Amino acid sequence: MVRVRFAPSPTGFLHIGGARTALFNWFYAQAQGGKFILRIEDTDAARSRPEYVDEILLSLKWLGFNWDEIYYQSQRFDIYRRYAQQLVSEGKAYVAEKLPDQPAGGQAIILKMLPQQVKLNDLIRGQIEFDTAVIKDQVLIKSDGTPTYNFACVIDDALMQITHVIRGDDHISNTPKQIVLYQALGFAVPEFAHLPLILAKAGGRLSKRKGATAISEYRQMGYLSEALVNFLLLLGWSPGADREIIGLKEAIGLFDIRKVNKTAAVLDLDKLDWINSQYLRAMSPQDLLTVLVPLLAEKGYIEKEKFDSNYVLSLIQLFQSRMSTLHDFVERSDFFFVDQPAMDPAAQEKFLSGDHSREFSLFIRRLEGLADFSPATIEAGFREMAQELGMEAKQLVHPVRVALTGKTVGPGLFELVYYLGKERTKQRLIRWVKREVA
Ligand code: GLU
Repeated sequence: MVRVRFAPSPTGFLHIGGARTALFNWFYAQAQGGKFILRIEDTDAARSRPEYVDEILLSLKWLGFNWDEIYYQSQRFDIYRRYAQQLVSEGKAYVAEKLPDQPAGGQAIILKMLPQQVKLNDLIRGQIEFDTAVIKDQVLIKSDGTPTYNFACVIDDALMQITHVIRGDDHISNTPKQIVLYQALGFAVPEFAHLPLILAKAGGRLSKRKGATAISEYRQMGYLSEALVNFLLLLGWSPGADREIIGLKEAIGLFDIRKVNKTAAVLDLDKLDWINSQYLRAMSPQDLLTVLVPLLAEKGYIEKEKFDSNYVLSLIQLFQSRMSTLHDFVERSDFFFVDQPAMDPAAQEKFLSGDHSREFSLFIRRLEGLADFSPATIEAGFREMAQELGMEAKQLVHPVRVALTGKTVGPGLFELVYYLGKERTKQRLIRWVKREVA
């Protein structure tokens, strides 16, 4: 049975690169009917933090990558020590008192590196050969008693019966050292698959400035987990025929680890926005309402228990085809929820610096005269008014929109007025009339 693992070090949050590694492991387990194991590599007590562990677990759950087993390396130190001692007694490793680059304390245990050619048949990268003559003797247990990454990793991958090690390209230079360890310990060597590097769109490696954002932040920014997973999947794999949107179920059926790209993937956040917008469009307004309610309540736009859900549903439908993230709705629909929406100063300067008293007053009168208040009648009234004024309707649309919403973009003006309602529309226009007249 296929057994794969994701082995994060909790010295930071789960970032795009780690999430992509987790996805490809989880995905491979799904495709093969195997098991997905989570191993927290918290051997470095000084740098590992419980809050990072919490964030990693939460983010993995949010992404839907449920694990079958979980282990913490910090609870397994005696196991590593036992195997290190076995290697010493077999003459394959030796004990050193004090190493120049090791913390003071007890004794370190070090593996003798014998010269040999190590062959690796990577499932993605193909055949790679390494000459161990260039590799130094390997520390297994440091003098402070903690195991090194390579040693703990091999012991655990062997004891946890990992069949496929799927991880980032940055670990390729560790692989020959690990293969030597498997051999020394008499363990079967698993298959390896090294995922391509992820580069920033601006070039170079991902950094804090270039897209290395924590998954929890993407969540807060209003991306849907399904969309983010779809996006991560394309960082190294493609369902073919230039398809970008693919549901998990279908992708699992098509996935082949051998078809993962060798060349570096580029993190294109515009593509993430686009993918997210496609997922948002495909959602039912009711489902969107469910995910938006907490965000709207947090902003104070609605009260969770008592708000007009039909009204908010209508607003969601106004924006649904124009949103890239959930936050787009929260930010762009503010004028429906607050009395004094924020005014974009550039929009005010451009569209409201002239005198619009006459047009606004006329529009108010038209609205008052409407027996049947609907987007169609509002539009008809607006167009008639423009004709009377000898203006083109579009010259009037922008000033009215800015006066009502504080923004230059948004849903169609007549639907906007309809959902804002006659009274609020009047009040917001009057503000500008008074100002100009006074
Ligand atoms: N803890 C290592 C890391 O986060 C795991 C590498 C591996 O998958 O072997 O990079």
